[in-house]
Amino acid sequence: MLSFESTWKEIEDAKSEGAVIGIGAIEQHGIHLPLNVDCMSADYLARGIAKEFGWYLLPTMPYGCSSEHMGFPGTMTMRSATLIAFFNDIADSLRYHGISKLVIVSGHGGNWFLKMMSREMNFQRKDMKVIVINTDRWFYPVLQQLTKDASLHHAGEHETAIAEFLHPELVKSPIPDDDNPDYGFDMLDLVQSRRLAAGGHWGFPSKSTPEKGRILLERGLESAVEYLRSRLQLIDKLHMDNDSKND
Ligand SMILES: [Zn+2]
Repeated sequence: MLSFESTWKEIEDAKSEGAVIGIGAIEQHGIHLPLNVDCMSADYLARGIAKEFGWYLLPTMPYGCSSEHMGFPGTMTMRSATLIAFFNDIADSLRYHGISKLVIVSGHGGNWFLKMMSREMNFQRKDMKVIVINTDRWFYPVLQQLTKDASLHHAGEHETAIAEFLHPELVKSPIPDDDNPDYGFDMLDLVQSRRLAAGGHWGFPSKSTPEKGRILLERGLESAVEYLRSRLQLIDKLHMDNDSKND
């Protein structure tokens, strides 16, 4: 597949119109999961999307905005301004090579800046389209099919299942008891996650299985690809009139 492991000649010959990059987070995921769980899911989806479209896959950006988890050692956080500068540089590099579509796949729900950034990027560069795929959006409906009372928590059922499927060697046992503090997620804007869930996980890791991880990833990828196809078709259709005022 076309990726950062290809040669420049292969990239030149492929004349790919699009590129895909993941962004994860290096942040605590309880006492049973590694810090890079969000990179795993972002990388899986980014790779799958690039393969499906035959687009250029870039290495996943491991760091995200994780200030709410800084109470736990090992967590790294970037200012959103740093990441906005980073993605603008990525977009400009691609544009220089004639690549006009960029898909950003976020494995971390806390990368809130992506929504506003992509909107700004799309209207600052009329010859480029940036589309954000947030993995949670695609995992949640699948989780609802698999589990009663499905809820996307942190280091709970779905993330434990994904890590158990992709990297079982990195999952520590025993899996901790479920911990579902009765706060809204908005509390993460106000206090450190360590005050809300002392062990770091929030949810139901006991319900996870590697099989659920596989189903989440595979079906999540299918619906993300479907969504992208429909959006790309719609963008083409709406640009048919070539009216530059309406980009
Ligand atoms: Zn996570």
